Amino acid sequence: MAKNQDDSIRCSFCGREKKDVHVLIAGITGHICDSCIGQAHLIVQEEVGAKSNKDLEKSLKLLTPKEIIDQLNDHVIGQDDAKKVLSVAVYNHYKRLLQTTKSVDDVEIEKSNVIMVGETGTGKTLLAKTIAKLLNVPFCIADATVLTEAGYVGEDVESILSRLLQAADYDVNAAEKGIVFIDEIDKVARKSDNPSITRDVSGEGVQQAMLKLLEGAQVSVPPQGGRKHPEQKMVQINTKDILFICGGAFDGVAKIIERRVKSQAIGFNALTQEELAEDNLLSYVNQLDIKKYGLIPELIGRFPVLTYLNPLTKETLTSILTDPKNALTKQYVKLFELDDIKLEFSTEVLDFIVEKAFLLKLGARGLRSICEAILTDAMFEAPNMEVKELKIDLAYAEKQFLKSKINKLKVA
Ligand code: ADP
Repeated sequence: MAKNQDDSIRCSFCGREKKDVHVLIAGITGHICDSCIGQAHLIVQEEVGAKSNKDLEKSLKLLTPKEIIDQLNDHVIGQDDAKKVLSVAVYNHYKRLLQTTKSVDDVEIEKSNVIMVGETGTGKTLLAKTIAKLLNVPFCIADATVLTEAGYVGEDVESILSRLLQAADYDVNAAEKGIVFIDEIDKVARKSDNPSITRDVSGEGVQQAMLKLLEGAQVSVPPQGGRKHPEQKMVQINTKDILFICGGAFDGVAKIIERRVKSQAIGFNALTQEELAEDNLLSYVNQLDIKKYGLIPELIGRFPVLTYLNPLTKETLTSILTDPKNALTKQYVKLFELDDIKLEFSTEVLDFIVEKAFLLKLGARGLRSICEAILTDAMFEAPNMEVKELKIDLAYAEKQFLKSKINKLKVA
C-alpha cells in the first residue's frame, strides 16, 4: 500500500512520476523533480542576466568612439592615437556587454583590456578616468606597486576589486561592469626575460595572481578591502565583464623598441634613421617589447590592445595649463574669484611655468607644483587683500619660485 502511494507522487511541474526522475523534492503542497530544478535555474540565470543588462542599459551612456573622442578633447590635450585606440576598445567592450541575443554562429567577442605605455604625467590615468566618467560606469584606480602575492606583506590583488565595489556603492552588478585602471604595471615586471627559478614576490608572483582577475573568474572579494582572512564575509564578483586598463612608464622600453626596429631595418617597411629620430619610439611599441621588458606572456595575452602616449612638448604643456575645461589656470582664477579677486597671469608667466615644468620632467604634474609655489603666498593673503585685481607678472613669479622648495629639485 505504502509503495503504491509512493509511486503516485509526481513532479507538480512536469507531471513525471517518481520512478521516471532521479530526485523528487517535496514542498509543502507539491513536488519538483531534478530536471525541472535545472530548467528553473536556467530561467532564473537568464532573468538575472537580462535584469543586469537592463540596469547597465539604464545607467550606461554608450557613446560612439567619435563621441567619446569629442568629449575627451575637452579634458585631455593631444594623445590622439591613445584616444582613438581607447575609445574603440571601450566602445567595443560595452557593445559586447549590451548584446542581448547570442549570435547564431556562436561568435564570442573577447574582452579588449588595454595597456597604455607612456611617461609619467602624460595623461594615462586622466584618459581612463575621463572615459569612465563619460560612460557613467564605476571606476577605480589601483597601484600595482603595493600588490603582492597572497601571504606576503602588501595587498592581495583582490583588493583591487574591493575598491571597484566601493566605487559602485557596493552594487555588485554595477561593479561587474566597471573599469579598473591599474597604474605602474611596469613595476611588477620580472627582472629578466627568463622565467624565474626563485620566487619573485613582488614581480612575477603578482602577475600570476593578476591572471585570475583578468580571465573572467568568480573572485571572492573582502568588501572592505585589506587582506583576506578566514572569518571574513566575502562578496563574489565575476570579472568577465570588467574592463582592465593598465598604465606604465616602462622606463627603458624605448631602447628595446629601437633595437628591435633597427634589427628589422632592411626591407619593404624599413624606417629610415631620420624617421626614427623624429618619431616617438613608443609609437612602435608592440607586445614583444613588453614581454622583453618583463611582463609574462600569459598576462600580455589578456591585454589584446596596446597603445602609447606621447611625451609632453612645451606646446602641449601650455595647452594643458590653459585649455581644458578644468585647466589649472581656470581653477586658480575660480579660487581667487571666491575671494572677489580677479586673477590674471601674464603670458610670460605661463611660459615660465611651462619651461620649469618641462625641465622637471614630471609631465603635467609639474605644472601644478609650480603654480602652487608661485601662488601660495597670494592665496594666503587673498582673504584679507584690499585689491580686487591681481596680475601675476614674471618678476613676481620668478621671485616666488626661487623661494620655493621645488626650485631646489635637481633635474635629472
Ligand atoms: P599618468 O600618465 O602618470 O597617469 P595623469 O593622467 O595622472 O598621468 O596626469 C597627471 C595630471 O596631469 C592630470 O591630473 C592632468 O591634470 C594632467 N595631465 C596630464 N596629461 C594631460 C593631458 N594630455 N591633457 C590634460 N591634462 C593632462
